[in-house]
Amino acid sequence: MKLLEYEAKQLFVKEGIRIPSGILVSKHEEILLHMDSIPGKAVVKAQVDVGGRGKAGGVLMATKDTVIDTARSLFNMTIKGVPVERVLIEERLDIQHEYYVSITIDRVKKQPVILFAETGGVDIEETARSGKGAVRSVTFTPLLQDIPGFLLRELCGDAPADIQKTVNRLYHVFRSRDALLAEINPLVTTPTGVYAADAKLIIDDNSLARQGIAVNRDLTDREREAEKHGFSFVELDGTIGVIGNGAGLTMSTLDLIEYYGGKAADFLDVGGGADSERVMHAVRLVAGVPSVKVIVVNLLGGITRCDEVARGIIAAGVMVPVIVRIAGTNAEEGQKLLAEKGYEMLDTMDHVVKKAVEVSG
Ligand code: GDP
Ligand code: MN
Repeated sequence: MKLLEYEAKQLFVKEGIRIPSGILVSKHEEILLHMDSIPGKAVVKAQVDVGGRGKAGGVLMATKDTVIDTARSLFNMTIKGVPVERVLIEERLDIQHEYYVSITIDRVKKQPVILFAETGGVDIEETARSGKGAVRSVTFTPLLQDIPGFLLRELCGDAPADIQKTVNRLYHVFRSRDALLAEINPLVTTPTGVYAADAKLIIDDNSLARQGIAVNRDLTDREREAEKHGFSFVELDGTIGVIGNGAGLTMSTLDLIEYYGGKAADFLDVGGGADSERVMHAVRLVAGVPSVKVIVVNLLGGITRCDEVARGIIAAGVMVPVIVRIAGTNAEEGQKLLAEKGYEMLDTMDHVVKKAVEVSG
């Protein structure tokens, strides 16, 4: 689960990382209740789960006089399609230098890997790509409770000792929270010390119950329906409905849609061994996504039998065109059933996606 900035910061504080003082509001009028604690110079930050938020206009400077209007303008915005439901108002830091630090897992070495850059901030991706301003990394055994001192020095170079300490505290967060990612960008020095100006934390879903963290995601009706049937389902904003089996095949279908210039309306993985009833529910579910103009069914029969898939598609009886590619176990029988009902079928994933992009206009 990806935490929002203010949630991540609350966990960072518990490990001794300093954060700017702040107030969270879910409506601009709410600020009136907190006027006494609003700093003269503030940063107003949309709490949305979106990368590149600052560059997209989600981080604004304000004063005590303009803070309400500034917050209102954020509440009226969608950032990369995500509506702003919460805004964090923080004291503005007097930033001297911006560093970058992130901790994740090196899946090959099966160890934590820490990345550090002396030039953090919103352009970190370009910094890393251009090779200007080194991004250093170290890996070490996760059995250690602290990053060894010599590795910290190697990682942080000439950065102040407090920066090194904060990096180690971030590792404490990472380790104790079973994080998949813990990041501070920028980690800043100011005349009053080192602060995490931003915070990112992704916690392994398998660890949420242990930590007593409730999943904070609000499901849509369709997502709830999908959960009932055990589908992996995510709604997107395109026009081509996608049904696949296996996360890899379904994801590749999305990639191919993008490649041919189309836009997927969803990701739906029916899972292994889907029978006709599951397929029927999947087709009806995707047909119900309002933006869907055409559905691609891309299934590989293994344990899943293609004749069952065909029966499910036919039973769904939806109005939107369904274009099918089925291969593997009982494919011929499935294709025969669909052909009788006049469904369009194509032999490869490439063809079926190309066709769907055409139909989606
Ligand atoms: P992101 O775009 O979602 O990563 O948002 P950040 O929270 O990292 O903010 C983006 C940028 O805004 C930072 O890199 C800083 O340059 C600037 N910024 C954020 N907070 C402050 C602050 O308290 N003071 C100053 N001067 N700049 C800030
Ligand atoms: Mn940031």
